[in-house]
Amino acid sequence: MSFVDNIRRVIPYTPGEQPQKKVIKLNTNECPYPPSPSVKKALDGMDTDVLRLYPEVACDTLNDALCSYYGVPRECVFSGVGSDDVLSMCFLAFFAGKDPVLFPDITYSFYDVWAEVYRIPYETVPLDEAFGIRPQDYRKPNGGVVIANPNAPTGAALGLDAIEDIVSHNKDSVVIIDEAYIDFGGETALPLIKKYDNVVVVRTMSKSRALAGMRIGYCFGPAQLIKYLNDVKYSVNSYTMNTPALVAGAAAIGDDEYFRDITSRIIKTRTAFGQRLRELGFTFVESSANFIFAAPPAPFEASFIFEELKKRDIYVRHFKKPERIAGHLRITIGTDEEMETLYETLSDILE
Ligand code: PMP
Repeated sequence: MSFVDNIRRVIPYTPGEQPQKKVIKLNTNECPYPPSPSVKKALDGMDTDVLRLYPEVACDTLNDALCSYYGVPRECVFSGVGSDDVLSMCFLAFFAGKDPVLFPDITYSFYDVWAEVYRIPYETVPLDEAFGIRPQDYRKPNGGVVIANPNAPTGAALGLDAIEDIVSHNKDSVVIIDEAYIDFGGETALPLIKKYDNVVVVRTMSKSRALAGMRIGYCFGPAQLIKYLNDVKYSVNSYTMNTPALVAGAAAIGDDEYFRDITSRIIKTRTAFGQRLRELGFTFVESSANFIFAAPPAPFEASFIFEELKKRDIYVRHFKKPERIAGHLRITIGTDEEMETLYETLSDILE
């Protein structure tokens, strides 16, 4: 017996690289545009003396703004340090049963890590041939369900009917819908929180609000589930979100015009770049997110293209596992200029 036997050992999630040098960074689905000018204004105007005090314990500044923007009652919202924190708290709070939690075999690769670290039993459900989620596959005994919609890293979206099918067939489990990318396409499951007592919808400001560096995530759900979530949060760390994040998040939510402008620009760039990728012979399923998950034309291997791009200071993401996706590259949608440079570089590599 040694102390090592008492240590909680896990294989951690691997985040995308954050290189210090200036590169074309299309590897972590960040927003290519800066946050709303109202974020800068709010932070510039912040009295730093308040940093002497602990932040708002119930994240009121941010949660009030979220509730009025989304038209959700105050007791139905919860915020955290990025949606990773919110999701992690959801796993801890909602998945304490013995049956396995279900999620797709190809999805956000943090889900199995949280399951492992919290010792939650889980089972992965294979996507179909076209990387689609089949709602009927989620009709078996389980201790919870997690669906990313649009899914990551595929970008494929599931309609609201299909999401509702999963929620309504799992009334004895909590169903988490991770909508990290919903502002770029797909239908939100937000209306379901009024209709069902077992669904939670998770969002982030890291992508469509251009605030990845602030770490702001939130979720909406029935009051009872939000209460359980708060009970867990207050049992781990009462003051999760810092004061500047609360101020910046509220300011970002307050500038809807800017939000609509940058998200529609990204969608437009995605359409144009997708067309050019197809011209180069890449194949991919239609993306509803701020990235495209594409396989290069034979005989080129995704890993080769990944390395060649990196040598030229263009960073995209390549997942070696699971094997079914190792032939793909996940390419974040940047500015039109960045995508033009990528297109030209890919043309050279494929020559
Ligand atoms: N869910 C999905 C599907 C994601 O891709 C990400 C980004 N890595 C997150 C949640 C977490 O994002 P954040 O913690 O920045 O809100």
